[in-house]
Amino acid sequence: MKTFLNKALVLTCAWLLFAGHQGVAQQKKKANGDSDHKKETTVKSNDGKDTKDKSLQRPKLVVGIVVDQMRYDFLYRYFDKYGDGGFKRLMNDGYSCEQTYYNYIPTYTGPGHTSIYTGTTPAIHGIIANNWYDKKSGKLVYCTQDDSMKTIGSASAAGRMSPNRMTVTTITDQLQLATNGRSKVIGVALKDRGAILPAGHSADAAYWLDDSSPNWITSSYYMNDEPQWVKDFNAQNKVNDYLSRPWETLYPLASYTESLGDNNSYEGMLPGETTPTFPHDLPTISKNTNSTAVIRTTPFGNSLTTDFALAALDGEQLGADSVTDFLCASYSSTDYVGHTFGPNSIETEDTYLRLDKDLKRLLDGLDQKVGLNNVLIFLTADHGVSEVPAYLQSLKIPGTIVNEKDMLGQVKSYCASTFGDSLVASFINQQFFLNESTVAKLKLNRVDVDEKVAAFVRTLNDSYQVFTANDLTRYEYSHLPARNVQLGYDPQRSGDVVVNYPPHYLEFGSKGTTHGSPYNYDSHVPLLWFGWHVKDGKYYERVNITDAAVTVAAMLHILEPSGATGSVILPLLKK
Ligand code: ZN
Ligand code: ZN
Ligand code: ZN
Repeated sequence: MKTFLNKALVLTCAWLLFAGHQGVAQQKKKANGDSDHKKETTVKSNDGKDTKDKSLQRPKLVVGIVVDQMRYDFLYRYFDKYGDGGFKRLMNDGYSCEQTYYNYIPTYTGPGHTSIYTGTTPAIHGIIANNWYDKKSGKLVYCTQDDSMKTIGSASAAGRMSPNRMTVTTITDQLQLATNGRSKVIGVALKDRGAILPAGHSADAAYWLDDSSPNWITSSYYMNDEPQWVKDFNAQNKVNDYLSRPWETLYPLASYTESLGDNNSYEGMLPGETTPTFPHDLPTISKNTNSTAVIRTTPFGNSLTTDFALAALDGEQLGADSVTDFLCASYSSTDYVGHTFGPNSIETEDTYLRLDKDLKRLLDGLDQKVGLNNVLIFLTADHGVSEVPAYLQSLKIPGTIVNEKDMLGQVKSYCASTFGDSLVASFINQQFFLNESTVAKLKLNRVDVDEKVAAFVRTLNDSYQVFTANDLTRYEYSHLPARNVQLGYDPQRSGDVVVNYPPHYLEFGSKGTTHGSPYNYDSHVPLLWFGWHVKDGKYYERVNITDAAVTVAAMLHILEPSGATGSVILPLLKK
C-alpha cells in the first residue's frame, strides 16, 4: 500500500511537473514545428501511395541588423581590411542585393528603421521624419515620443517613448500575430527610435541607452520593471569601462589609406577637443562634459550594443525553442561618428573596422547559442550619407551649405507683404507649414497661397524643386526624385510646401556632414542576407528598401505588414 501510494505520488508529481512545464512554456513559447510535429509522418493518401506530410519550416531566430548611416560603398571601400568573420562572411557566404535603395525622402533614421520593418514608406507608415511639426497641437513632436509613458531603468525622461505614431504593423508584429504572440521580439540600439520602431507595436521589449544613468532603459509601454539580466548588465557599468581609455586607432595610422589625413579641415571634433585627431581622450571628455554621451560618437557605442545584444540572446533565450523569435539590433555609433567626422575620416574608417569585429562577435555568439543554420540574418542601413560639401568643392564637385534660417526669413517676409501675415508656422524637414487658422481668418484660398509660396521659393534658387500639398495629393509622379518626395508625403502630417534641393545641398555646419536627400549617396544602402535557407550570390537588379520586410514575410510564410508596398526579392527565394 505504502509502496503503491509512493508510486502514485511520484507519478502525480511527475505529471504535475510536466503539466506545469507545459503551462509555462505555452505562455510565451511553443507551437509550429514542435518536437512531436517535427518528425515526418507517413500517411496514406486516397490513391494508396505514401506521401510526406512535412512540418512547417521556419528559422528559430531572425536577426535584423541596421548599421546607421552605412552607405552601400562602405562594404567595398574597406573590404580588403575587413576580417573573415564579419562583413566578409555575410558577403561571401550570404546573398547581397547590391542595388538596394530608399524610395522616399527624408532619408532619416526614424523613417528608415520604420520602412525596413514595415515594407512601406512614410506616406503610409506615418513616420515622416525624426521630428516634425504636429499640425493639431502646433508643437514639434519626436517620432517615438510618448508623454503618457514612464522611463523604466532610470530616473531620466529618456524612456518616455512608444511606437504609437507608427500607423501600420511591422514584420515583427506580423510574426507575433502569426504565432499567437509566442514569438519573442526584442529591439536593441543606442538610439531609442532605432530600437522601438523595428520591434513594433507588439514587441516584448525595446532597450536603448540613457546617457544620464548610463543604463540600458525601456518604457512603461513594454513593462514595469526590467528583467534581471538587464539589471545585471547595467550593474557591470560597461559604459564607464569603455570610456576609461582613449580612442586609439586599431591599426597604425599610416595604414588608414581609405581616408584623408587625421587632421583634415572637413572634420568636426568631440566636445572640448582642439584638433580632430587621435588619440581621442575619452576619459577627459567624459569628465569635462560630466556625461557619458561621448560613447555614442565612438566605435565603442557599437561594441556596447553588441555586448547588450548578446546578453539579450542569453537572457531572453532567443532562438532556444522552435517558435521563431526576432532580434532587431541597430548600430547607431556609425551615424554619430559619420556626422561629426565625415565619411572620409580615419575616425569613420576605424569605426567600420571595429564594427566588423563586433559583427564577428555577434555572428560567433549566434552560432554558438542557436547555430547559424537556424538563424535568418539580414543587414542593411537606415540611409546613407553625403560627403562633406567643402571636400567635394576641393575636388571641383558641386556641394553647398544651405542656410535654411535665411530661407525661412525670406519666405516669411514675402508672405507678410503679399498676404498681410508671415503665415509660416514651421519650416522643418524642408517643408513649410502654414498657419491654418490665419489662412482661414484672412479668408485666403489655401491652394492659391501654397502656389504663391512655392513660386517664391523657386525664385530663391532656380534649381530647387518645389511641390505643394495639392501637387502631391493630386498627381502621381513616376520619375525620380519627385516620386520619392511623394512616397515620403503624408497629407495628414506633412507640410504645405515641400522643397527638394539639388544633390549635395546640405543644411549643416561647415564641418562634418548629414543625409536626408533622395540622391544615391543618401539612398543606396547594403542589403545582405545570411544563414537559414540563404544561398550565396549577388543580385544586381534594383531593389527598394520596402522589399526587405515583404521578403522576410515570404520566407517565414506569414502575412506581410499591414501597409507593405514592397515586393518579394525573387532570386533570393529560388532554390
Ligand atoms: Zn540613421
Ligand atoms: Zn581625424
Ligand atoms: Zn544621421
